[in-house]
Formats: sequence, structure tokens, C-alpha cells
Amino acid sequence: MDFNPSSIPLDFERGFTMDIDLITGKSKDVDTGKRFLGDLRGLFSDETAYEAEVGKGNPLVYEFHGLPAPDHPGDIGFGCSIVYPGKVGNEYYMTKGHFHTDIETGEAYLCLNGHGYMLIENPEGDWRALELAKGKCVYVPKRYAHRSICVGTSEPLVTFFAYRANAGHDYGSIETRGFRKLMVEVDGKPAIVDNPKW
Ligand code: ZN
Repeated sequence: MDFNPSSIPLDFERGFTMDIDLITGKSKDVDTGKRFLGDLRGLFSDETAYEAEVGKGNPLVYEFHGLPAPDHPGDIGFGCSIVYPGKVGNEYYMTKGHFHTDIETGEAYLCLNGHGYMLIENPEGDWRALELAKGKCVYVPKRYAHRSICVGTSEPLVTFFAYRANAGHDYGSIETRGFRKLMVEVDGKPAIVDNPKW
């Protein structure tokens, strides 16, 4: 009996293995969702710079694995997020960010490669920017919205994430006003500033 099949489907009922490239976060076993700059209208603060960048082309800003984890509290949703280097004006490329629909649900991220920050904030306005670098693990507490930001100039920010599979993703409140804080480049370094749209 073959006790270690080399290729098995993503079987959330009986277990599976999946290969992830530790440098790129890519996997041949799973589809990768893509978000191009043109998909992200309203996300970046400098709308003039945004339109100019989209006009020059439509670069890929980030990718993510979406595994078909069952909508069940005993399952774990996981995968990789890949944020590419780039800026719109002085604001770094980032993910949209989300609360969990069940807001009482945390999430763990392990940085596999690259350099960036996990910006988190809760509805009461507490916020932090937690550094992500190869080997650093970030814990996103329950009740905190979270977004990954790539501040590296040459390598993508690659993180592995895991969360309770039925937590759900709530993008709506973030899409309306964004986060309270923005991460921008000032004198060649990341800095936090107030979001003028908040
Ligand atoms: Zn999450």
C-alpha cells in the first residue's frame, strides 16, 4: 500500500499535501487569484498618481491562494499572499485588507520572503504596523482588520497565512474609508501618516 502518495487532490476530509515555493509563494497545486492595479481603484490615496500608473500599463499588485476549505469551524483556511514591489505616488503596494466576517477570529501569517508590514486596526481605532521579514511570524488578533504592505524594492513580500475556515472576509467597511493610517515612503523609508479620506 502506498502510504505517501506524491500527488493527491486538496482533500479537506482526508488530508493532503501541497507544495509551495518558499521564495515566490507559488504553487502548482492551487489557483492564484490576481489583483491588478486597475482592479484597485479607490484603494490608494493619490488618485492622480493612480490614474497615471494605470494609464502606463496595468501592473500586478498582489496574488493570493484561495483553497477550497470547507465553511466549517473545525477547518483551517490557508495559503500564500504575494505582494509585489511598487508604489502609487509615495504609497506602497498593498492588499485591500479585510475584517473577518466573524470579527472574533484571528489569523497567523509567516513571512517566507521579502520585506513589509502587516497594518492592523480595530473598530475602536487601535492600530499597529507589524514588521514582516523572512522568518517573522505575525499574529493578527481577533477584531483587527489587516492588510499586507510590501516595502521592499526588488523582491515581493511572500507570506503564508492560516485562519479558521469559516471566518469569512469582510471587505466592505475597508472599501468605504480605508484604514485610518497609510504607509508611505518618506526620505526612502516607510512612514505612517493619517489617511486623509478617513
Ligand atoms: Zn484575514
